[in-house]
Amino acid sequence: MNTKISDSLFQRAQQRIPGGVNSPVRAFKSVGRNPVFIKKAQGAKLWDVDGNEYIDYVGSWGPMILGHAHPAILDAISKAAVDGTSFGAATDREVEMAELICTIMPSIQMVRMVNSGTEATMSAIRLARAYTGKEKIIKFEGCYHGHADSFLIKAGSGAMTLGVPDSPGVPASIAGATLTARFNDLSSVEKLFAEFPGQVAGIIVEPVVGNMGCIPPHKGFLEGLRKLCTLHNALFVIDEVMTGFRVALGGAQQLYGVTPDITTLGKIIGGGLPVGAYGGKKEIMQMVAPNGPMYQAGTLSGNPLAMEAGLTMLTMLKHDPSIYTMLETRSAGLESGIADIAQRFQLPLKQNRVGSMFTLFFTTETVKDYDTAKTSDTKLFGKYFNEMLNRGIYLAPSQFEAAFMSAVHTECDIDKTLTAAEESLKRVFGK
Ligand SMILES: *Cc1c(COP(=O)(O)O)cnc(C)c1O
Repeated sequence: MNTKISDSLFQRAQQRIPGGVNSPVRAFKSVGRNPVFIKKAQGAKLWDVDGNEYIDYVGSWGPMILGHAHPAILDAISKAAVDGTSFGAATDREVEMAELICTIMPSIQMVRMVNSGTEATMSAIRLARAYTGKEKIIKFEGCYHGHADSFLIKAGSGAMTLGVPDSPGVPASIAGATLTARFNDLSSVEKLFAEFPGQVAGIIVEPVVGNMGCIPPHKGFLEGLRKLCTLHNALFVIDEVMTGFRVALGGAQQLYGVTPDITTLGKIIGGGLPVGAYGGKKEIMQMVAPNGPMYQAGTLSGNPLAMEAGLTMLTMLKHDPSIYTMLETRSAGLESGIADIAQRFQLPLKQNRVGSMFTLFFTTETVKDYDTAKTSDTKLFGKYFNEMLNRGIYLAPSQFEAAFMSAVHTECDIDKTLTAAEESLKRVFGK
């Protein structure tokens, strides 16, 4: 594989951008190679600056559920741009967007738009604290909720991949207000409520974890969290930045039938432009300025291009439920193909999948939380990643990420992926 142009760009990038990238795992550090620089994308495919073509399972880390450069979304963005790219004033599109989100997710009665998932979770936690008058929050080991101070405690995603789950620079006083429990373990949460009586403002959770690889919730886990929050007057925050409009149109809360107090959204909601949102019960959202005293603002929030892209995306998803059936079928096909390879060659692998989110773990343990995710052999994953990339399959460059299927991956793409996976796995395991 020729990567001459990517390599020279990376040399230049490292001089002027920390690590040569604007988000850590893009550097491919944990898989031991230089990153490829992407030139363009269309549908399920990516092309790098050296002209290599890939079938993409990153999908911009989630948003591209309808594939790259979808004509309807491009059209919406360019039409909106003609009327101006930002006003810093109220627009009709924001009203439509808020109404649409509230119909898709009935637990949301009011919603505030922001510019990223990080902003959404950061604001949601401030809101939980403001509303309850309490300070502590409970998060789960290995869950990632963006890079705000309160969440870089046993954090997943790039923080886990690069071995910095507790980042320096986070004040001890802030870190101390974040309590961590074990995913899929209600008793670890009960213990924290008992240890810090009357002090917990809320629980935040990835309902299906994507950021230590894909980990589904055990039956009763999310319902149990809901009950504990109600019992202890704490708010239940479901972080659907990744799962929203992904595992079902109405997100994981629809799939598992749980009702949060606050939901955070990102990724798909922006149709590929930078958007986040947080919303919930009216009574709680009334706390947000200018209605209430909890301050939160944004110069570019509700940006016209981003709203138009997001509205177009959500409208297409809402009007075609067959998209989710198709995503399920294709993803299940890929999963069973990999399972078949693993079985034929007796390979020590485990897979987790919820709809179009999935991860192949290089371990023999059932992956259900941070500790079991950590049993994965990341060196073997690194080899697999490289073998797959060389065969034109673009996976997330970390064991601790979910892969995403899009609505435009074809049977042919999946067959090619399975052929590449068989060759790659045989080489990784020397079979
Ligand atoms: C990606 C992600 C975030 C952070 O969103 P950004 O837009 O990257 O700031 C937060 N929570 C979850 C569950 C995510 O997957």
